[in-house]
Amino acid sequence: MFDALIIGGGAAGMSCALVLGSAKDKVYAKDKRIGIIMHQKTSHLQEALFNNVLGITPGTKGQSILDSGKDQLSTLYPHVEQITKEKVKTIEKTELGFKVITNKRDYNCKLVVIAVGYTNLLTIKGLKHYVEPHPKAAIEKDRIWLKNNDHLVDEGLYVAGTLAGWRSQFAIASGSGAHVATDILTLWNGGQHTKVHDKI
Ligand SMILES: Cc1cc2nc3c(=O)[nH]c(=O)nc-3n(C[C@H](O)[C@H](O)[C@H](O)COP(=O)(O)OP(=O)(O)OC[C@H]3O[C@@H](n4cnc5c(N)ncnc54)[C@H](O)[C@@H]3O)c2cc1C
Repeated sequence: MFDALIIGGGAAGMSCALVLGSAKDKVYAKDKRIGIIMHQKTSHLQEALFNNVLGITPGTKGQSILDSGKDQLSTLYPHVEQITKEKVKTIEKTELGFKVITNKRDYNCKLVVIAVGYTNLLTIKGLKHYVEPHPKAAIEKDRIWLKNNDHLVDEGLYVAGTLAGWRSQFAIASGSGAHVATDILTLWNGGQHTKVHDKI
């Protein structure tokens, strides 16, 4: 049973995983099982070139962020389980949370974060009735969002990144993933607001 399972290894999903992982020494998070379905094949980062993101060297390719993000997560926070070469097909509600079904196996989890991007190619069964036209994208692009209130789609079901209804900019998608992570950490902390800062 995962305490939190993130679906999607793009900007929002990896940012969420890094912030959740970074809470490893906090009492409220230390025994939590965290996972990420690290599917990257359809990330918008694949084609992107970054010159306008604070902290990222101009000229950085999205593909190198996909690779370095995975490495950063496994080096600094190896307790966050990276599930590779799997794609999510179905999400079902269960008594204790959710069952996430991939093309290879099933995972039970208490909380799910969906971070699979805003294309209308979303084919995950169990999410269809949350899907609406994206509120902040050009209509002819046919983008979608999962209707949510401050990233919460339903009890225990979060959405992050462009699929949460944000415009497609790297910093916004990453920030959305980090935002969801701090919401989950706050939940684990009994509702007391929390964040994770490292200091010099
Ligand atoms: C050509 C291009 C250039 C860009 N240039 C810039 C720029 O200069 N500056 C800027 O700020 N932004 C830029 N962007 C935008 C930026 O890349 C996106 O805003 C950002 O990647 C969105 O993050 P996301 O996490 O919402 O989606 P993504 O990064 O697309 O991540 C979604 C992830 O979900 C995974 N996934 C999909 N379906 C499933 C499934 N069924 N199961 C499991 N995983 C799944 C995908 O493989 C992917 O890894 C550019 C985008 C493009 C396409």
